[in-house]
Amino acid sequence: MKEKKLLLKIKKVFCALFGHTKIQSQFFGYWYCGRCGEQLGDSLGGVYSAEDVVIIGHNCETCRKNHKKLKWHEKILVPNPFKKNA
Ligand SMILES: [Zn+2]
Ligand SMILES: [Zn+2]
Repeated sequence: MKEKKLLLKIKKVFCALFGHTKIQSQFFGYWYCGRCGEQLGDSLGGVYSAEDVVIIGHNCETCRKNHKKLKWHEKILVPNPFKKNA
């Protein structure tokens, strides 16, 4: 599993350089970066704005619209958020 560790390291470096991607996963009100997996915030306290976020696996109109606005560095090293997990 050395390669996986290395890949995560690359992802974290990428996030540090370009910022976390707007493609994020949501779990019980908590938001996680779709690239490095870091917790970015929670919407429970109402402090996290997820207006322009693409939620992984959501595939709604808003998410697809937001996805079109993403820049290249927000899509690189991030899995396709609209692809169903097998
Ligand atoms: Zn990240
Ligand atoms: Zn959505």
